[in-house]
Amino acid sequence: MKTLDCLSSKTPTLWINEQREPTTPALAKIPFGMAEMRDAQARLYRFAPLIAELFPEEAGPLGGLIESELAAAPGLADYLLPQGGRLLVKKDHQLPVAGSVKARGGIYEVLFLAEQLAIEQGLLHHGDNYTRLMAEDVRELFARYRVSVGSTGNLGLSIGIIGAALGFKVDVHMSHDAKQWKKRRLRQKGVNVIEHRSDYGSAVAVGRTAAEADPFNHFIDDEKSLQLFLGYSVAAFRLKAQLADLGVRVDASHPLFVYLPCGNGGAPGGISFGLKQVFGDAVHCFFAEPTEAPCMTLGLVTGKHAEISVYDIGLGVRTAADGLAVARPSTFVGELIAPLLSGALTLSDDMMMNYVYAAERLEGTRIEPSAAAGFAGPRLITEHAFSKQFEEITHLLWTTGGRYLPDEEHRKNLEQGREIYEAERNN
Ligand SMILES: *Cc1c(COP(=O)(O)O)cnc(C)c1O
Repeated sequence: MKTLDCLSSKTPTLWINEQREPTTPALAKIPFGMAEMRDAQARLYRFAPLIAELFPEEAGPLGGLIESELAAAPGLADYLLPQGGRLLVKKDHQLPVAGSVKARGGIYEVLFLAEQLAIEQGLLHHGDNYTRLMAEDVRELFARYRVSVGSTGNLGLSIGIIGAALGFKVDVHMSHDAKQWKKRRLRQKGVNVIEHRSDYGSAVAVGRTAAEADPFNHFIDDEKSLQLFLGYSVAAFRLKAQLADLGVRVDASHPLFVYLPCGNGGAPGGISFGLKQVFGDAVHCFFAEPTEAPCMTLGLVTGKHAEISVYDIGLGVRTAADGLAVARPSTFVGELIAPLLSGALTLSDDMMMNYVYAAERLEGTRIEPSAAAGFAGPRLITEHAFSKQFEEITHLLWTTGGRYLPDEEHRKNLEQGREIYEAERNN
């Protein structure tokens, strides 16, 4: 079946990107790169002491660095890779402060803004300890500004929590599919949550328009923000060090296959961009989307990016993967990633729930449905025979959210997933 037919009929599929180019010349055409990633990383280091002060309970062993563990997952490896091969999990579902991959981009952009404002006003100087930003004069400055964002949930959580902690006013425009517990958590932090009856794209559009009229309102634009994108890309530096610590080689004969859950493309796009900068042709990045909302795959396959929505092919964006419930991809990300991406896959909600259950049962790991989208990758790649070197491949699942998932939500997901898991096992 052609990819487009698979998408419109909600048939799970693996799409291989025939437009992919050799990494080095493809990256050379992009007007930013390693220098901007290093600058973003340095900024995150400058802010680490402040984050550690603001979130003492969550900061963890890395102080105030927003980072997650990379670990082997032997139970999942047996389940997902029966033919053998190495499987690792990059645990962004445990990221401090926001509990999802959105902590990388969202927090980074708010920190960027805070630094810029404080320096402009002469309240922060080169070499200062950034805990200085907790002082009364700085908080008064930040309190004059509003940070706003449109979100299906997790981006709002990340920006709302860091924004409120720094003293900004924060507006979060939530789409109708945002989970109640995410709205509640934000309101507890003093964030202004504005609920829309519309989808994610419309929530973003309303937020953007409201901010345009107000110079004291900084809108974080998930559809085209370079700062968000760079915040995500920094993940690649840490991953490189973590792979080295585990003794995992990544080179032409030991390729790294990375599976990234994808909504509008910002998080997986930024991370993939960073990975390509760091590992070049040796890394293969695959985006994973629900069959109900495969917006990035649709945009890439048709070349239309945000000019086409999944509604146009008869889909409804009805998915339990709220973090991926997006009808139109980011054109900024789609165009940038088109020559770099190795492919994309789609999977049903049932399969995501199955994997949520598998993660809990086999690894004791709590993830939200969105975070399980990439779990379909290893088997698909192995069956497709994308590479002949099965033994030499390292498969990496990027688990993107779940740390603050309430027990009750998780229990419901597990119940659904368990039935599917057991039915599959009995087959
Ligand atoms: C937002 C999100 C993603 C995907 O990020 P995009 O930038 O929307 O592509 C993946 N997983 C979770 C849990 C998310 O919240």
